[in-house]
Amino acid sequence: MGKVKAEYIWIDGHKPTSKLRSKTKVLEGPVTSLEDIPEWSFDGSSTMQAVGNDSDCLLVPVYYIKDPIRGEDDILVMNEVRQPDGSVHESNTRARLAEIAEKFKHHEPWFGIEQEYTFFVGRSPLGWPEGGYPAPQGPFYCGVGADEVFGRDIVEDHMEACLEAGIEFSGINAEVMPGQWEFQIGPVGATDAGDQLWLARWLLYRIAEEYGVNATLHPKPVKGDWNGAGAHTNFSTKSMRESGGIKVIEAACEALGKKHDEHIAVYGAHNEERLTGLHETCSISEFRYGVSDRGASIRIPMATAKDGYGYLEDRRPSANMDPYLVCAALIETCCD
Ligand code: ADP
Ligand code: MN
Ligand code: MN
Ligand code: MN
Repeated sequence: MGKVKAEYIWIDGHKPTSKLRSKTKVLEGPVTSLEDIPEWSFDGSSTMQAVGNDSDCLLVPVYYIKDPIRGEDDILVMNEVRQPDGSVHESNTRARLAEIAEKFKHHEPWFGIEQEYTFFVGRSPLGWPEGGYPAPQGPFYCGVGADEVFGRDIVEDHMEACLEAGIEFSGINAEVMPGQWEFQIGPVGATDAGDQLWLARWLLYRIAEEYGVNATLHPKPVKGDWNGAGAHTNFSTKSMRESGGIKVIEAACEALGKKHDEHIAVYGAHNEERLTGLHETCSISEFRYGVSDRGASIRIPMATAKDGYGYLEDRRPSANMDPYLVCAALIETCCD
């Protein structure tokens, strides 16, 4: 067995929105479990995670998948950032989610996340006339044809790569604003949802890089009468998925209403630009839930209301949210 190229991926200390970082370590193969992947370190002073005179931070591998870009035996490794003594670094939001997921595991929480994003070339969204605007929104959502859809080759490559890597990828669609797209992952458990979403984001940036295109998760990439970008988070527990679960879902919605501000605080920066009450959103200062209501904070899908069990959709998280924080908040509020 030869060498394995392991891309160590971690989340930096950038504020208010963390960014992905990565570097490559060549390992002796084969890698058949997490234990075969050693801890590593990096210069935290270059990632807003340490000061210059004491800058080593630890990378602790927590999850890995096949690297669909390099090939065969190579891997992408998700890491938690720790201090040299092993304690949790303040930028590490995953460690707390892992604790909460363990504490409430008897509820069997599942997550399905809809990641919206926007392609940019320079200062314009992909497909937009340089310095100008396309036709008003309307025909682009789930559209087809060279005049309506921009970047499908990248989107298809990304989907293929995620499936190849073993991510629980569940679909894609072109969005309301031209140049804007969505992919979904799930349903999966809490830490898997977080790890897989971050890795799918990394693959999106990496694949778009080949095309000279930049993907942004900004919640309102173009000001004005254009849709923002969210990360609707679909959530269920075992009792929500069982007969009579609608009662549990309604109780969860009531609990979420009482903690609206705490949730908004971890649902992504600049979200107030997106949650205006227009463009299929509920205003950031209001909380509402309802069946099939795409203008509500929480939507109970039609099928869930009809069956009497299923899941809820939290429509508030923005595209740039940290899934470790969002999943932790949902479990804490709905399961406690
Ligand atoms: P929308 O109609 O809001 O656009 P999507 O089809 O884009 O919905 O996304 C729905 C998401 O919900 C998918 O990621 C799917 O995996 C997830 N999902 C389905 N069932 C459940 C469930 N029981 N619990 C949590 N998530 C679920
Ligand atoms: Mn969707
Ligand atoms: Mn969408
Ligand atoms: Mn949705």
